[in-house]
Amino acid sequence: MAGKRKRANAPDQTERRSSVRVQKVRQKALDEKARLVQERVKLLSDRKSEICVDDTELHEKEEENVDGSPKRRSPPKLTAMQKGKQKLSVSLNGKDVNLEPHLKVTKCLRLFNKQYLLCVQAKLSRPDLKGVTEMIKAKAILYPRKIIGDLPGIDVGHRFFSRAEMCAVGFHNHWLNGIDYMSMEYEKEYSNYKLPLAVSIVMSGQYEDDLDNADTVTYTGQGGHNLTGNKRQIKDQLLERGNLALKHCCEYNVPVRVTRGHNCKSSYTKRVYTYDGLYKVEKFWAQKGVSGFTVYKYRLKRLEGQPELTTDQVNFVAGRIPTSTSEIEGLVCEDISGGLEFKGIPATNRVDDSPVSPTSGFTYIKSLIIEPNVIIPKSSTGCNCRGSCTDSKKCACAKLNGGNFPYVDLNDGRLIESRDVVFECGPHCGCGPKCVNRTSQKRLRFNLEVCIG
Ligand SMILES: [Zn+2]
Ligand SMILES: [Zn+2]
Repeated sequence: MAGKRKRANAPDQTERRSSVRVQKVRQKALDEKARLVQERVKLLSDRKSEICVDDTELHEKEEENVDGSPKRRSPPKLTAMQKGKQKLSVSLNGKDVNLEPHLKVTKCLRLFNKQYLLCVQAKLSRPDLKGVTEMIKAKAILYPRKIIGDLPGIDVGHRFFSRAEMCAVGFHNHWLNGIDYMSMEYEKEYSNYKLPLAVSIVMSGQYEDDLDNADTVTYTGQGGHNLTGNKRQIKDQLLERGNLALKHCCEYNVPVRVTRGHNCKSSYTKRVYTYDGLYKVEKFWAQKGVSGFTVYKYRLKRLEGQPELTTDQVNFVAGRIPTSTSEIEGLVCEDISGGLEFKGIPATNRVDDSPVSPTSGFTYIKSLIIEPNVIIPKSSTGCNCRGSCTDSKKCACAKLNGGNFPYVDLNDGRLIESRDVVFECGPHCGCGPKCVNRTSQKRLRFNLEVCIG
């Protein structure tokens, strides 16, 4: 029996041995998988700390230890963009490395705008936020690592037209938070400092306790205020995260970038954010705020030797559309269209000593004049759409544009990206005059200015 059992057991043991081997292999594979997942989580967490997707959520969900080190977070859900999306061209490929910094900034912002407008076109919610997500996915954020001080290509006076633009460049990586700072993730590179360390603040006038005198600012720390309602303090602020980061700037004499938000009718977001330069944190203290809760205060002073401020809390001039042509500097012609356009197109010349008007020998036209030797192809039959062209799969004109519409129905029609040729709908199309694919055929709707300078 024993022998039998032994014989009977023998295959079992082999099986067990082999299953131990298989298990080891499996375990190894599982360990490897777990390691890869961890790496991925770390990568995404790192990215998230670079770009915070929505600070309103962060206030509720993202927690950090009091010393500012992030607690382990689950990876953010990176929303997939619409199906059939155009592939992002990464702006920082080998060729672009030598680009002048200002051009890099422009290129990065153009790419972001394209993503933003594509999301608008796809009718996604929070298209600005999703545009930033697409930029992260494409590794197209110009400054993905936080930097102390000025960023190349972004001068004092630079205007951002949304908070999303600031995220897309890597200038201020928080969507809503006023203070952007280096977390413990930067420990190795900045071992001489205590982290967190603030790099940038945005003043949007959302704290009732802020005091802004342009060159000297008393800035209120973050937290404890009613984000969505009347913006009043509803609890005490704590010396953690951004607040701790600003305290460290004070202790280590590290300057922070200061950007001010202003209401601006001519911006498509109705807001504009102007970079006002570097400020040092002179001192900080805790006090009872207007609402009776503890708030942290920081006295900021603008560093010497920077270009003069173009903005202050009272008066925001740059970026405003002049209300009359008399306000335009270097005006040489009030309207180069000679009254042909609904809005006049002024011309300015800030270069020539005795400024020359562009109107001599210049004729403004509103229609096409075709040279006699140019043969115009027979007119196409147009598309069969009704009302406005919306289905790029069915619209014959969309097909001519490479299968998508060049314009998005936003601000009365915006071109998503620059193109060599745009095929608009014409007289043989079934769509009506309000079709977005007829944007350039509508009358002039924006203020234009011809600048010689
Ligand atoms: Zn059509
Ligand atoms: Zn058409």
